[in-house]
Amino acid sequence: MMKIPFLDLKQVNAPYMDALKEAASAVVESGWYIRGSYCEKFEKEFASYCGFAHGVGVGNGLDALTLMLRASIELGWLNPGDEILVPANTYIATVLAVNAAGLVPVLVEPDEKTFNIDPAKLADACTEKTRGILAVHLYGRLADMPAIWKFASECGLLVFEDAAQSHGAFLDERRGSTSSPTETRDERKVVKSAAIAYSFYPTKNLGALGDAGVVVTDDAELANVVRMLGNYGSEKKYVNKYRGVNSRLDEIQAAFLLAKLPHLDAWNARRREIAARYCSEVKNPLILLPEIPADPHEHVWHVFTIRTPDRAIRDALQKFLETRGIGTLVFYPIPPHLQEAYATRPDGANFLLPTSGLSAKFPITEAMADTIISIPVSQVLTDDEVSEIIGALNEFVC
Ligand SMILES: *Cc1c(COP(=O)(O)O)cnc(C)c1O
Repeated sequence: MMKIPFLDLKQVNAPYMDALKEAASAVVESGWYIRGSYCEKFEKEFASYCGFAHGVGVGNGLDALTLMLRASIELGWLNPGDEILVPANTYIATVLAVNAAGLVPVLVEPDEKTFNIDPAKLADACTEKTRGILAVHLYGRLADMPAIWKFASECGLLVFEDAAQSHGAFLDERRGSTSSPTETRDERKVVKSAAIAYSFYPTKNLGALGDAGVVVTDDAELANVVRMLGNYGSEKKYVNKYRGVNSRLDEIQAAFLLAKLPHLDAWNARRREIAARYCSEVKNPLILLPEIPADPHEHVWHVFTIRTPDRAIRDALQKFLETRGIGTLVFYPIPPHLQEAYATRPDGANFLLPTSGLSAKFPITEAMADTIISIPVSQVLTDDEVSEIIGALNEFVC
């Protein structure tokens, strides 16, 4: 029997072993290990890959999210206690970052077709305290940013993006994210996002060999404040302008990322190829396939997530695939609002209730968590392995 793990990081990195070893030894020999020339070079290259002016390396994706929000507060763009709209079906990091920055996350249900925040539901979640939207490009598919920007510009909200799963996805001709310049594009006033947070956790489409993250933005001031916040709030040694944290990009991770970045587009292209095969060759009424966006560049298939009619069938499918040697994962089995971390506090305060008194019920998110399952889609899969997975999916009965 073929054994197909959900994701084998050793296999992912193996083809680049020589380059990675060379990068590591160059850093070891350099005698400089944090925020040096590799970090600077990676920040520049990644920002430019994304079509942005500035990149600031930080310790991880959660810190990238938190620090871009905190920097917006330090600059007076946001105030502590402001409400930020976030999708209810995201990884908990998105929500934690909003809290960590002293802001209030307000959850919004996703669109079932895209798995991303439903722009049609933004208006209902808005209160007089709403000041921003933190969109997440879940599973590698860009959220409907034109609709989000349009709504944000009408309501005067700042837009941020959690791009931890979408390295290399782009709208129009601009790479790396969704952002676009402030100028009018095809008659439509487009508001660019203030900043975008990336994670380079080893399993991401572009992964380090440890923790790493970056904030990209076109705003030099914001970049500078993020940089200071990640370095104890300091620009000049031992002079502290802000109450910062320690969240910096290691030279060794920057060197690894520099070695891997040139291959990202090819990996994403292979992921799209595999996703296209699943979408055209899986024909089983028990399996609901995701949609390929009209412009395939808007999706980089961080994971390939299918749905089943109910939870029992999902669980049976997971077991069945396991017996066929195929690894699967559920992203994510418990949505943030059902986590103990966000259980209603003894004082009655629930961080996720907007002040307007909307009830914290997220039936779409909960139904998704019960019926989703992700199958392997990494660039290292061979055609035979993809065929094996398709065969197993088509054979599944319940
Ligand atoms: C991975 C991930 C993060 C957090 O990144 P870390 O580097 O693990 O801190 C945040 N948001 C989303 C959507 C993620 O997938």
